[in-house]
Amino acid sequence: MDIKLQQISYAYAQGTPFEKRALFDVDFDIPSHTYQAIIGHTGSGKSTILQHFNALLRPTSGEVHIGDRLIVAGKKAKDLKAVRQKVGIVFQFPEHQLFEETVLKDIMFGPMNFGVSEKEAEARARELVSLVGLPNNVLEKSPFDLSGGQMRRVAIAGVLAMDPEVIVLDEPTAGLDPRGQKEIMDMFYQLHQDRRLTTILVTHSMEDAARYADNIVIMHEGKNVLSGPPQTIFKDGETLKSFRLEPPRIVRFQQKIEHMMGRSLSKVCLTEEE
Ligand code: ADP
Repeated sequence: MDIKLQQISYAYAQGTPFEKRALFDVDFDIPSHTYQAIIGHTGSGKSTILQHFNALLRPTSGEVHIGDRLIVAGKKAKDLKAVRQKVGIVFQFPEHQLFEETVLKDIMFGPMNFGVSEKEAEARARELVSLVGLPNNVLEKSPFDLSGGQMRRVAIAGVLAMDPEVIVLDEPTAGLDPRGQKEIMDMFYQLHQDRRLTTILVTHSMEDAARYADNIVIMHEGKNVLSGPPQTIFKDGETLKSFRLEPPRIVRFQQKIEHMMGRSLSKVCLTEEE
């Protein structure tokens, strides 16, 4: 399923003295089955955009196309259940939303509220705990007896249990140690590959954007200012600096080598080996 943002603007508290415009004519497409990263300095509008991907926010003007659904200003869209099922959002610190007595019940909660049978919801939960790297015996435990990293995985399994076609990740590794961060990012990449999940990553990590995304959108002061594959986006350090961003370490490393060699390599080699 693809998502298209067409000239969307968004203002918080519109029409009040506290009105704050957060997005200005944002316009880009996220084609089905791609891995997109959205990067930008704090306050650039990333979280506001993210909430348009499953109609948690409606644009103040412009159009959002989510698959075949159209979300426009001023018109309350009816029955957004299908959109909410198809676009799963893993919010920052998703473990804060765990609440059931057991891990099993927590993972089953979403699908059962969307009409999936108990049997099917349980089958999904059992499959997903191992997919997110947890042992089967956690299913009967209270989520609150788990470590922070394990709780995060349970919460992710809860989003995946809805069987989404698009998954939106809002700083999914915040607060985890480096090993946990890599495990989670690799897991999402594998899911993207195996299930052809359209993946949208909102991140501060230039390394993650460079390593995993097919395409990167840069947000700056509420506008999408630049878009392209990592090789192009990270090539020009000066432009990045003007958006208050730094190229990732692997790219800076390559630039150092190019400087030593006295010539440019034809492309940025964004691989693990470096
Ligand atoms: P980012 O996710 O890139 O940090 P945000 O989308 O959170 O950016 O914020 C974009 C702009 O909107 C900022 O100027 C921020 O202060 C403002 N903003 C965000 N949330 C609200 C809100 N609930 N009410 C008013 N202004 C907000």
